Amino acid sequence: MADKNTSISVSVVVPIYNEEDNIKLLLERLIPSLKKLGRSFEIIFVNDGSIDSSLNLLLEGQKENEGLIRILDFKKNYGQHMAIIAGFNHVNGETIITIDADLQNPPEEIYKLLEKIDEGYDYVGSFRSSRNDTFFRKYSSRLVNLVREKMTDIRMKDQGCMLRAYSKELIQNICESHNHSTYIPALAYTLSRKNTEVEVMHDQRASGESKYNLVRLIRLNFDIFTGTTILPLQLYTIFGLAICAMNGGLVTYLLIRRIIFGPEAQGLFTLFAVVFFLISVVILGIGLIGEYLGRLTLNLGLQPKYEIKSVYDYTKL
Ligand code: UDP
Ligand code: MG
Repeated sequence: MADKNTSISVSVVVPIYNEEDNIKLLLERLIPSLKKLGRSFEIIFVNDGSIDSSLNLLLEGQKENEGLIRILDFKKNYGQHMAIIAGFNHVNGETIITIDADLQNPPEEIYKLLEKIDEGYDYVGSFRSSRNDTFFRKYSSRLVNLVREKMTDIRMKDQGCMLRAYSKELIQNICESHNHSTYIPALAYTLSRKNTEVEVMHDQRASGESKYNLVRLIRLNFDIFTGTTILPLQLYTIFGLAICAMNGGLVTYLLIRRIIFGPEAQGLFTLFAVVFFLISVVILGIGLIGEYLGRLTLNLGLQPKYEIKSVYDYTKL
């Protein structure tokens, strides 16, 4: 078998979390589309703590496609983006492609991204021509895209589409940045030298359900904002200053009333309202600051980013 550490043209990284119903179909479509490109390639599956038979199916696929597939098996579920980062840390290719396992992005369109890489772009994103997702997913994504456009310098038509291509240098920069808590498309955008986007098709999930519920989506979007901008923190500070000024006025007013009219029991509830409002502002602020501190902790490497249980490399076959 050839030494796989030398000159592979394309590495495809696929995060896998409970995708037993999709793996076979994915391999049936992904491998022929990669072979058609006429370039050497490898596929790196990162099993993100699946509790179904995904790993076994991947191992079977590895046997059937000798020398093409490597598998990283996580100790537990660390999330899609951590899985991709782990994949990035193991790639050998000159160009790296990320794709979801559920066939929402057709593997047959990978060539479109590679064409752009050949033109000299180091990061090629994609946007979905017509998105086949639930009403909630579609519109919440639109809202998030809009807020991101306003708050950050990141210009992406469709931040949720994970069919993307990266140059080897960009992947090295991403890995070296140790900014592992950040949403990868946004991080790649900020580190890229020259980027573009191509239009791709979007199908319904081949099988199973989206692994993202509302809470996971909110957490992911927190990642994008706190990982790329401190604007929310600054807005909060300005807001806090304005509240302080208003509060100063109110206290002065209450003091003057107290001096002129003496104690007024009726004013108690207004005061309560003001106090409660201020408490909520404080809580909100602490939460936000906590987000940044949490990120700092993660980026300082104080917490394990991910732990790999086993690596099933081609050579171990
Ligand atoms: N995924 C993962 N870890 C997770 C959640 C998802 O590796 O904790 C993988 C999943 O198997 C799929 C990709 O990430 O390959 C995208 O997940 P999904 O299709 O659920 O996301 P959506 O398309 O709804 O954004
Ligand atoms: Mg999906």
